[in-house]
Amino acid sequence: MFPESFIANLNKELGEDADRLLAALDGEPSVSVRYNSAKEQPKEGLRKVAWCEYGRYLEQRPYFTADPLFQAGCYYVQEASSMFVEHLYRQSVGEQQGVRLLDLCAAPGGKTTLYSSLVGRDGVVVANEVIRKRVMVLADNVMRWGAGNVVVTNNDPSHFGSLNEWFDVVAVDAPCSGEGMFRKDHAARDEWSEDNVKLCAARQRRILEDVWCALRPGGVLIYSTCTFNRAEDEENVEWLVENFDCEPIHIDMPEEWGVVRSEASGVECFHFYPHCVEGEGFFAAVLRKGGEPSHHRSPKPRKNPFADLPRQSVAELSAWVANPSEMVFKQVGENCYGYYSATFADVRQVSEQLTVVHSGVCMGQIFGKKLRPDHSLALFCEVNRRDDVEVDLATAQNYLARRDVDANLFTEGINLLLFEGVAVGWVKRVGGRVNSLLPKQFAINNLTAPILD
Ligand code: SAM
Repeated sequence: MFPESFIANLNKELGEDADRLLAALDGEPSVSVRYNSAKEQPKEGLRKVAWCEYGRYLEQRPYFTADPLFQAGCYYVQEASSMFVEHLYRQSVGEQQGVRLLDLCAAPGGKTTLYSSLVGRDGVVVANEVIRKRVMVLADNVMRWGAGNVVVTNNDPSHFGSLNEWFDVVAVDAPCSGEGMFRKDHAARDEWSEDNVKLCAARQRRILEDVWCALRPGGVLIYSTCTFNRAEDEENVEWLVENFDCEPIHIDMPEEWGVVRSEASGVECFHFYPHCVEGEGFFAAVLRKGGEPSHHRSPKPRKNPFADLPRQSVAELSAWVANPSEMVFKQVGENCYGYYSATFADVRQVSEQLTVVHSGVCMGQIFGKKLRPDHSLALFCEVNRRDDVEVDLATAQNYLARRDVDANLFTEGINLLLFEGVAVGWVKRVGGRVNSLLPKQFAINNLTAPILD
């Protein structure tokens, strides 16, 4: 059952197509994943998501939780329509190097992981989530993806005013009334009301207004929601154009993709309707900030969380990554962290202003002269593959469920456990015993069903 005024709105906006959309919303959602090309190439034979290089549809929904490759960040289970931001990024930002991208409403991290792959190792993604509980999930997914170029923050959008004109790209995947999720999430239908649509639209404007100053003139704003109504979609884009200096960006796109174009005060907008595309409901718009850069000073540092490490510690840490000459290592609290040298100054600036939950690669702690490696390092795409041990599916699953594994498989000391050539986590063998270095939040608690091929 759909709310009556939702149906009335759809009839008004879509005419005859409203019935087709409603029928699609009562059908089965498709299943799709996006591969992490730094760890694994897409499986052969899977159908491609047209607008995303590494997006693939699956014919059925496997029990992802039990798949060591899922736990190792080889792919992210992501709804296909939302992968469209890749196409917008490629067309509006292109091959620009050293991109600073803010993903303002980031949890659980679907788009963050995509952006972290797109900006590459000489760019940096600041992935922010205002809700504390959700920011931890975001940080875990960022670590699992292992790109090493993400700073996870837990701030209100208004705090980004301290990074004035700092970002090349700001992505606002706004909290919304969720009409596009009615097929996957029946609770969203119950929560929907006209008042809530108004509330969401007003909140989205506040968020956009708060963050606008953080985008540099000439920079790109990607605004998206997973809802169909104009109030949260086109009308907010119109409001942006009325109140701020915005310029349109043209996006090329084959018609056969089934994406429906619309326009708001000259800005190109894109609707994903489940009766036209294989994916859930989604809306996106992309525009450029106009105007000239203002001449302002860099923000005054409020804190410096980074301490230098003794040379001996740097040498020890260097041995654990594949390209140590391209990284810097710092002490933050009790842990040592690794950063790509090219973007460390950016990470530092963000860390001086905002509440950082995770950044770069958490390497672990040094005891005596030796590193006790953190799980984040095992999942880092550029971890040094020394002392690695390939194990079978049962052993990998037992490890992930924090059950005992056979000590004879490992050499004395720290080992990197691999499944199908991909790093899953650390174990430490001490004589006949194996200690797992897998943190509880990464453990599988409900290993019940087998995975499907
Ligand atoms: N971008 C995410 C992804 O691809 O996985 C999904 C983001 S979800 C659509 C919107 C997010 O905005 C939620 O995580 C929610 O907690 C957050 N949020 C809620 N209220 C907010 C506010 N007032 N300001 C900023 N973010 C907010």
